[in-house]
Parts: sequence; C-alpha cells; structure tokens
Amino acid sequence: MQPVQTISSSTVDRAPEQGWQAQLSGAIRNPKALLAAVGLDERWLPGAMGGHEAFEVRVPQAYLSRIQKGNPDDPLLRQVLPLAHETRAVAGYVTDPLEEADHTPAAGLIHKYAARVLMITSGACAINCRYCFRRHFPYEDHAASRAQWHRTLDYLRDDDSLIEAILSGGDPLLSSDTRLAWLVGELDAIPHLKRLRLHTRLPVVIPDRVDDAMLAWLSSTRLQKVMVLHINHANEIDDAVVQACVKLKGAGVTLLNQSVLLRGVNDDVEVLRTLSERLFEAGILPYYLHVLDPVAGAAHFDVPDHEAHQLHDRLREALPGFLLPRLVREVPGAGAKTPVEALDASLTPN
Ligand SMILES: *Cc1c(COP(=O)(O)O)cnc(C)c1O
Ligand code: SF4
Repeated sequence: MQPVQTISSSTVDRAPEQGWQAQLSGAIRNPKALLAAVGLDERWLPGAMGGHEAFEVRVPQAYLSRIQKGNPDDPLLRQVLPLAHETRAVAGYVTDPLEEADHTPAAGLIHKYAARVLMITSGACAINCRYCFRRHFPYEDHAASRAQWHRTLDYLRDDDSLIEAILSGGDPLLSSDTRLAWLVGELDAIPHLKRLRLHTRLPVVIPDRVDDAMLAWLSSTRLQKVMVLHINHANEIDDAVVQACVKLKGAGVTLLNQSVLLRGVNDDVEVLRTLSERLFEAGILPYYLHVLDPVAGAAHFDVPDHEAHQLHDRLREALPGFLLPRLVREVPGAGAKTPVEALDASLTPN
C-alpha cells in the first residue's frame, strides 16, 4: 500500500548515522571518558592514565557498544583499557620486538618475506589495542611523502619476484579513498603483481568504513583481493560487522582473520572455538593465531608457549581443519611466520 515507505525505511536502515570519519573523530580518546562509558569507577583511573601516557586510549563508539557495561573483565574492554601493568618494565619486552627497523628498503616499506612486501600506508589506527606490537613504532619516520611513495612504487616495479602488495599500518583504511584509489591504480599497473592484500581492523571497529567510495576502488582493480581482518573474540562480530563483510565479499574480496592469543581475552578453548565458528558465519576464514610479540607494556597479556600449544591442540580436536588458525610467532630474521609447534619440538628431548 505504501511502497515509498518500504523504500525509505530500507534506506534509513542502511544509512550510517555519521560517516566513518565523523565516527573516527568522535572516538573516545582518554581514560576518564572510557571508564565513564563502560560504567567503571575511578579506582581504575590511575593505572589507566599511566598506560595512556605511553600509548593513548582510542576507542570508537561502534566498538564500545559491544562492551558489557560494568564488567572490568569484558574481553573487548581488556583490549583497549590501559592498566597499571603497562608501565612496568619486564625483562625481554622491548620497543621493536620484530626488528623491523632493519628491513626498510624505502620509507614505509618492509620487505622481509619472498614474493610479498608490506607497505605502511597509514601510521595511525582507529582503535589502539594495548598489546599492539607496533605501539612504539616510529611512524613519523614512515609517514611517506609523495616523493617517498614514488620511490616505494619504483622498488615494487623493479623487483619482478614480487607477486603481492600488502597494505598495512597502522591501519591502511584510515587513508582517504582518493589516496587509496590512486595507490591501487599504481599497483594495478605493475604487471608482475597479482594480488592486493589489506591488513586492517577498520571494518571491525567502524563497520561504516566499508562504504561506496571504498567498494568502488576495490571493485575496479584487476588484482585479486585478500583482506586480513583482526578479530580476537566472537563478541567483536555484531550485525554491522557481518553486513560490512557481505559488502566486501560482494566486491570480490577473500576474507581472512588473524587473532592474537591474549591472556584474559581469548586464552580458552571454548572462546577460540566460538570465535572460529562465528568468523565462518560472517564469511571469514581463520588464518593466524599469533602468540604475543614481546613488546614493552604488553607482558600481562602473555600466554606461555607450552600453554598456547596445548590450547591449540585441543582446538584442533574441536574444529574442522579449515576453521583451525595456524598458531605462529614472529621470529626476527625468519623468512616466514614460524609455527609454535616447530619451536616446541626442537626443545623436546628424544
Ligand atoms: C606477516 C608479514 C607478512 C605476511 O606474511 P604471510 O605469512 O604471507 O601472511 C609480510 N611481510 C611482513 C613484513 C610481515 O610481517
Ligand atoms: S589495529 Fe592492529 S596495528 Fe592498530 S593498534 Fe590494534 S593491533 Fe595495533
């Protein structure tokens, strides 16, 4: 009877209340506001302030809305609320655990592995994860100018062993679509490149980032597209995230996920099993489960190798093979992510 109403209501359902940039600038940026928003009292403030000084708090509303109020142990809150532990120095936890500073042939470029390079497309993130292995990364040195971008692209053109360009960061999707469209166009024109990969958490933390402007450049490239999302707990996947994934798949993007194994967040077989199941429901395949990199300020998230290995063995029995992420660590100097099994095996007397 009222077709107009049907059309307009479906439009309203899909229209973001604010564009993603507005949501980004509206993100919570200080511990006091974060505690108020999640209903925790000021006893948590001194600890949070200490961590915040080293690596600022940043939580967008869309992510905040998935946090259970009044629960200091909420697995999403634990990823974003600084604790007093962060300011404690722990032996072996350093500022550049991956020694990436040694592998930058051009500003904003990290070439450690065969056939693929990682390009630091944007230094910042839409969310600041407390365990981030790049929390001390000197992004200012990598904030590439246009001239530097040309040198980076020359490097990719000159090395025909390269098959895949990986846009990473920080979060590459914090760059404007104008800039990304330009960059992807340049990559598209390099004949030996076959794949474009994006490492991003933005479709998870601000699902409205997956808008028409982004889908336009994604759909127009000849390169095969892979997106590696970063989700650590099933509660991070709400309906808005699922809708964003549907759009990405519609644009021909293969969706994978990497998680970090984190004490108090997902160090539990049932939590990890549920995460894999929920990922698959959203059209995402589990890819990597990383053990924590020993970055200063994150020691309280550590799960020791033997425990990580046990958890992974039990997870293997709980899931079909295609839903089991590979348990890996980053070893400085190694030519690939290293399975945690291999390290354990070398220590087993036999
Ligand atoms: C992790 C990483 C990659 C990608 O490794 P895959 O095993 O292909 O996912 C590429 N380059 C660098 C520098 C990395 O750290
Ligand atoms: S989104 Fe990734 S790079 Fe950004 S703070 Fe979180 S873990 Fe670090």
